[in-house]
Amino acid sequence: RDLRVQDNPALCLAADASAGAGVLPLFVLDDALWAPAGPVRRAYLLRSLRELAGSLGVPLHLRVGDPVREVPRVAAELGAREVHCAADFGPYGSRRDAAVEHALADAGRALVRTGSPYAVSPGRVTKPDGSAYRVFTPFFRAWSAHGWRAPASAPPAVRWLEAPGRSKDGWPAEPDLGDLRLPGVGERAAHERWRQFAGTGLARYGELRDRADRPGTSGLSAALRWGEIHPRTLLAELGNGPGDIVLRKELAWREFYADVLHQSPGSARASLRPELAGMEHERGTGADAHFRAWADGRTGYPFVDAGMRQLQAEGWMHIRVRMVVASFLVKDLHQDWTRGARWFMRWLRDGDLASNQHGWQWVAGTGTDAAPYHRVFNPVLQGRRFDPDGDYVRRYVPELREVAGAAVHEPWQLPGGPPDGYPLPVVDHHEERVVALERYARATAGAPRET
Ligand code: FAD
Repeated sequence: RDLRVQDNPALCLAADASAGAGVLPLFVLDDALWAPAGPVRRAYLLRSLRELAGSLGVPLHLRVGDPVREVPRVAAELGAREVHCAADFGPYGSRRDAAVEHALADAGRALVRTGSPYAVSPGRVTKPDGSAYRVFTPFFRAWSAHGWRAPASAPPAVRWLEAPGRSKDGWPAEPDLGDLRLPGVGERAAHERWRQFAGTGLARYGELRDRADRPGTSGLSAALRWGEIHPRTLLAELGNGPGDIVLRKELAWREFYADVLHQSPGSARASLRPELAGMEHERGTGADAHFRAWADGRTGYPFVDAGMRQLQAEGWMHIRVRMVVASFLVKDLHQDWTRGARWFMRWLRDGDLASNQHGWQWVAGTGTDAAPYHRVFNPVLQGRRFDPDGDYVRRYVPELREVAGAAVHEPWQLPGGPPDGYPLPVVDHHEERVVALERYARATAGAPRET
């Protein structure tokens, strides 16, 4: 989560603490994270590590295995007194780092954590009584009032060391991504993307960010997720223009969800609202077939299908479309949000446990914030609103390329029905919406309000 040299306080401190004796750049490929990562995140990580190694000018020392064993081993081989990293606040990462710290301490060495992947570390911003925020808006106010440090001034002058012995661990082969294309990876690409967005996109960000058919957002989520650029670097450059204000708020969502996960680690797997944990879900072969249609982008609802195909073409999906496809799986196909969240984690290059699981919980109405369960996204109306001319759908669904304009959002209404090869809707949205509301009412044993 810190694959960069600039604005990296842990690296600055390591350079200072080494007092010129040098710093060894070490990355431990941990099977507990590598195995479930899926090909897209694996490929992204390997490319980002290669970019980082290229910018250091010395080989990045790679070990494969359990960090609790590998980190102390390398420290011992090198005779290092300290190991520096940024703090990890995820459920697994924080446990792992505590175990590494103990193992190092047994040999008289220290693990020094400096900073985190966030502008304000999770757990810092609390209500006046010390408890955690569960709603975004008051969190955002407190987070803004808390403020954050300025970026670390300049990349430190580091005397990089090479490992004393050659690592026996080779780099794993990059997974075959087929037709999936990743954009520029690494610190330099992240800065270029940010410069370009700050120069040309930011001013109209508030106005265009919801449009699926326009490149209206920063496209920085993967760079932030892998720490190729730190949110502090972005925040330091934001002023008070309309786009700047909206982007600051979006970055705060990322910080909020990290805070929620830190305070409630169980929310990675289970609904935060316990009364909805017992919702009835579809299971069995029919549900599996529906899931497959959703995952493959063959539901017959073009806006949903375009999103699911964008995911497999680019390892990324526009935020508005993430909401609509997630709503479709949970509320039209009545499936458990965790199933969709797993699919997203498999394909997203920005796949991040906190943002993903809580994004899903927000849509499912089981999470922290005020997205009530009875708000069911209509995939046709959402498409007409956020892809008004149908360009987004035509870009990702070739079967519909000959259908002009917004008619592409309802191909079953075309004279003669959908073009060859494109399916009819797998369910009727209006009927399934009623079913979803009934199930919600049963689970909460109260009458849902209509909006
Ligand atoms: P921009 O609009 O340019 O936003 C700038 C940055 O702010 C993003 O890069 C991201 O870091 C942060 N951000 C913006 N919106 C959100 C949000 N709602 N929640 C958290 N952070 C946000 N984002 C991820 O980074 N990883 C995920 O795994 C992820 N899964 C999601 C799953 C669902 C169901 C939903 C609804 C949203 C999810 N998001 C996730 C949030 C959001 O969709 C992406 O951050 C955004 O689409 C990334 O594109 P961008 O960088 O162009 O965003």
